[in-house]
Amino acid sequence: MQTPLDRMADFDLSDEQRQVRKTVRAFAEKEILPFVEQYEQEARYPLELIAKLPPLGFMGPMIPEEYGGSYMDVVTYGIICEEIARVDWVTASVISVANSLVAGSITKFGTEEQKQRWLPQVADGTCLCSACLTEPGGGTDLGNMKTTATKVEGGWKLNGTKVFISHADHAGLFFVVASVDLARKHGGVTAFLVDPRETEGITIGAFPMRTLKRDQLAEVHFEDAFIPEDAILGEPGRGFPVLGSALDTGRFSVAARCVGQAQRCIDLALPYALEREAFGQKIGEFQMIQQKITDMTCRTQAARHVVYQLGRMKDAGVPRASMESSMAKLMSSQAAVQNALDAVQIHGGYGLSEEYEIGRLLLEAKSLEFGEGTSELHTKLIAEFMLGIRKQ
Ligand SMILES: Cc1cc2nc3c(=O)[nH]c(=O)nc-3n(C[C@H](O)[C@H](O)[C@H](O)COP(=O)(O)OP(=O)(O)OC[C@H]3O[C@@H](n4cnc5c(N)ncnc54)[C@H](O)[C@@H]3O)c2cc1C
Repeated sequence: MQTPLDRMADFDLSDEQRQVRKTVRAFAEKEILPFVEQYEQEARYPLELIAKLPPLGFMGPMIPEEYGGSYMDVVTYGIICEEIARVDWVTASVISVANSLVAGSITKFGTEEQKQRWLPQVADGTCLCSACLTEPGGGTDLGNMKTTATKVEGGWKLNGTKVFISHADHAGLFFVVASVDLARKHGGVTAFLVDPRETEGITIGAFPMRTLKRDQLAEVHFEDAFIPEDAILGEPGRGFPVLGSALDTGRFSVAARCVGQAQRCIDLALPYALEREAFGQKIGEFQMIQQKITDMTCRTQAARHVVYQLGRMKDAGVPRASMESSMAKLMSSQAAVQNALDAVQIHGGYGLSEEYEIGRLLLEAKSLEFGEGTSELHTKLIAEFMLGIRKQ
């Protein structure tokens, strides 16, 4: 489906990037969209949909070719995340967790052995990934985490609990952060690559949510879970730079997903506004409905510009772009939430009926305001960068 916004969205993309958008969109609309509602109703994890990604190279767009990936550039990665998220939150999350948080960290901080071991399996889809960051005591204040990694002969023992973990039951690789010294706060945080299938002492339990039933969010318990020495990513106590870098790329991909979700709200609102009648005319002819459509359009395209610009900065080699990542995440997640609210409003009461997709998108959009940093956190970070309290 083409929209009038495509002209501006595609304007300064390369021919290859435009072609990728066309291909991903056609694939997503045919191979994923028609099945999403059913998976949600059955609270079934969409393994069969995810299995369609690797043959097209959509599982490894940030993984270098030498490790089996299909790396092109960061903007193209964003376009893939955007177009997949336009039809399904969960499938897009599989791509972004695997590529940004996990593969991105391995590529940047991993040893050659870690790259050889993990990246090809992530790229070919045989190993899905989970990021185990958030704890029951809080997700924003990660420096205060309580999960510990204690040094033992030949490796480490992990103890603690992580909550809200996407894909955990189906993942072959956990990116886990734990503290080697709680007293050192940020200075104790360490990143680990954990094989959940080969590690005793890990239990995965349900973490029921009111939304995204098909994601089957989980809590993950580590009880004296032994992991070998070579599971450490980077150095002990140097997990925060790994995490920071992972989250900067993660925020880019989540922001791109938010743009896709915001766009989907427009896609659903337009035909409804052109079809539904009240007082003898199409509701799309009412000024107040038109106001919502204009607002949805402008905020989506504004967010998209910031996301693509961030992608271009990353492609140009700007090392972290943390402030810009926060701006992209904040603007785009708020656009997704506000667009979902407006699109539901345009649908009237049907916006909350099971007959229409838009009601489902409302809570799914809201959940994008939490992962990879809440709106409050990003608001704080942007102001601190601007005031010079925090340095890039
Ligand atoms: C659908 C979904 C999927 C998720 N998937 C994962 C996953 O795969 N892996 C994972 O590790 N986590 C995951 N999360 C968790 C997510 O990362 C956390 O919800 C998020 O980091 C916030 O943590 P919290 O919920 O504990 O809120 P808290 O950190 O307790 O924050 C509560 C409120 O206080 C505000 N707040 C906190 N600190 C400040 C401050 N300094 N200034 C102003 N306000 C502040 C927050 O913005 C928020 O509004 C997921 C969450 C959702 C909803």
